[in-house]
Amino acid sequence: MRIAVFSTKSYDREFLQAANSSYGYDLVFFEPHLTRETCGLASGFEAVCVFVNDLLDTDVLKALSEYGIRLVALRCAGFNNVDLVSAAELGITVVRVPAYSPQAVAEHTVALMLSLNRKLHRAYARVREGNFSLEGLLGFNLAGKNVGIIGTGKIGTALAKIITGFGCNVLAFDPYPNPECKAMGVSYTDPSTLFKESDIISLHCPLTPETHHFINSNALKKMKTGVLIINTSRGAVVDTKAVISALKSGKIGYLGLDVYEEEEELFFEDLSNEVIQDDLFARLLTFPNVLITGHQAFFTREALEAIAETTLSNITDFEKSGSCVNQITADRIKK
Ligand code: NAD
Repeated sequence: MRIAVFSTKSYDREFLQAANSSYGYDLVFFEPHLTRETCGLASGFEAVCVFVNDLLDTDVLKALSEYGIRLVALRCAGFNNVDLVSAAELGITVVRVPAYSPQAVAEHTVALMLSLNRKLHRAYARVREGNFSLEGLLGFNLAGKNVGIIGTGKIGTALAKIITGFGCNVLAFDPYPNPECKAMGVSYTDPSTLFKESDIISLHCPLTPETHHFINSNALKKMKTGVLIINTSRGAVVDTKAVISALKSGKIGYLGLDVYEEEEELFFEDLSNEVIQDDLFARLLTFPNVLITGHQAFFTREALEAIAETTLSNITDFEKSGSCVNQITADRIKK
């Protein structure tokens, strides 16, 4: 099968080519995102393989359908960039990688927590300048602190395991409490209580209409002054304007972000020679107590190997039987 692979970086090529040695697909790598302007590149292929910031709206899917594309293989878990209703109407199957390494994201979450708390991002720059003063670098012990986890699926559970080991008390909110977390001693509660009692809050729910701007000015009002917030889920779970106000007032003491509401225009590209046009993002960069990474929480060797392997095995399932356990449809996610 000929597959057009969009949004490819050197690391995508490396891991997909290695996994493909046991599949033998004809993979053609394209650097650009899949968009209305670039979808012509898919002409002559049978499937497209895409990532988080590729656009698969009705227009793009119609064009793909005209080229004979019958399969969209996502190299990620999230599928908010695909119009699943149009895909179904056009007879295009959509598959994804539901889990590749929850530990990768959970460990990056802890890295953000510790870096912010112990101000490692500032210490690193200071020491390189020959400044060994400790003024402004005071942190706090994680042991004994209350950590609130929103969403205790695969990543939230992996985080709960790690921070339980640090001696933290774990609170959680999830409409579907996880027995594994309960067995670990995690206390499930409602969002208001979690906001009120947590010293640290970490977001691990999907982006849905219910979770859009879950962290807004109302939620922030309920939180402890000086709260440490980490978002490694999806950018729009947090209302950026509200967190900027809360950072200015001191309500938020520390903010760690791996995702951002408008990240499509920024992340995964080298923009170091350009002027950033997004004023909210630029404002976030000015706070000494904000640490941002560019959607890299998933980015470990183990995760990339798992993404490549599952993507190619999804394609094989589709090729052999026309269906796949990791298929997603407009009405439900096949488990
Ligand atoms: P998962 O499906 O295993 O878990 C999500 C959990 O959120 C589920 O338990 C679900 O019940 C819960 N949930 C749903 N609606 C909720 C709500 N309104 N409030 C609270 N909880 C709610 O998913 P996962 O693998 O743990 O991933 C979680 C999210 O992390 C993904 O949706 C994705 O957006 C994000 N993610 C980010 C990266 C990264 O590199 N930054 C990588 C992978 C995933």
